[in-house]
Amino acid sequence: MVDTRTGEVFTVIARAVAVAADALHTPQLLWASGIRPPALGRYLNDQPQVVVGARIDLPAHRATAATDPRDALTGVSWVPFADGVHPFHGQVMQLDASPIAIHAADRPDPRPMVGLGWFLPKDVQPDDRVWFSDGDLDEHGLPAIHIDYRLTGDDRALVRRAVEELQDLAADLGEQTRTPDLLAAGSSLHYQGTVRMGAADDGTSVCDDHGRVWGWQNLFVGGNGVIPTATACNPTLTAVALVVRSVDAITATLETRTPPS
Ligand SMILES: Cc1cc2nc3c(=O)[nH]c(=O)nc-3n(C[C@H](O)[C@H](O)[C@H](O)COP(=O)(O)OP(=O)(O)OC[C@H]3O[C@@H](n4cnc5c(N)ncnc54)[C@H](O)[C@@H]3O)c2cc1C
Repeated sequence: MVDTRTGEVFTVIARAVAVAADALHTPQLLWASGIRPPALGRYLNDQPQVVVGARIDLPAHRATAATDPRDALTGVSWVPFADGVHPFHGQVMQLDASPIAIHAADRPDPRPMVGLGWFLPKDVQPDDRVWFSDGDLDEHGLPAIHIDYRLTGDDRALVRRAVEELQDLAADLGEQTRTPDLLAAGSSLHYQGTVRMGAADDGTSVCDDHGRVWGWQNLFVGGNGVIPTATACNPTLTAVALVVRSVDAITATLETRTPPS
């Protein structure tokens, strides 16, 4: 290992190793270590995200209330995903809680403003991937990260449906302040799948359902990268739930293996 702050190189002897360096850097570290199962880096799954902004027309009695009408808003409200009915995970965000710019031209306006962010399940594809090539290194001397990623026809159809839904919702709420549009790939910050788990070592997964890398007894991967299927919700809790299972498997491994000499 290398301490990038000091350049010190040192060796760690461990009975089990767990790599959880996010869905881009976990495959990078495996590749750099010469561990290159066929699915490594593939099935990169980033949720397309569509957003709109709106000023809310409050009922007259609320708009003229003595209190600031913005007080009626509370952080983020959830519009749930429902398979086959509402294929989006929605967040209605009070302006000062929104990470996305949704301002129209600045002008005094007492109406509260919200951003609606819809996360879409991706049509997961093996050719969406993070990939590396020997000799092509980044500033840390690790394999440089390259990304192939595209939306399929199904993805684009779902994006259009989200745009239409958000257009209607903004109109229902009041005044639209940002045209609904698809954010740049990666904006969701919910990238997953590059070290995905699977039921069998058939070349379509990197690890088993406990995060153990195929072909290894004591090497585990964790984090969003192990999530194998399309998701629309924020993924961290899923990744944490999965890693709890991995910890059980690691513990069992340590109890049965003899320490290295
Ligand atoms: C502003 C913001 C808001 C978010 N809000 C939400 C939310 O509300 N809900 C949600 O579910 N998700 C949210 N996310 C996404 C969330 O951060 C990810 O889902 C989650 O952190 C992914 O976990 P992970 O373990 O895969 O990766 P990370 O949490 O990124 O952990 C990877 C770790 O590995 C380290 N690392 C990387 N490379 C190396 C290396 N070579 N050597 C040693 N260490 C390394 C990194 O420093 C990092 O500590 C948000 C993200 C951001 C930025």
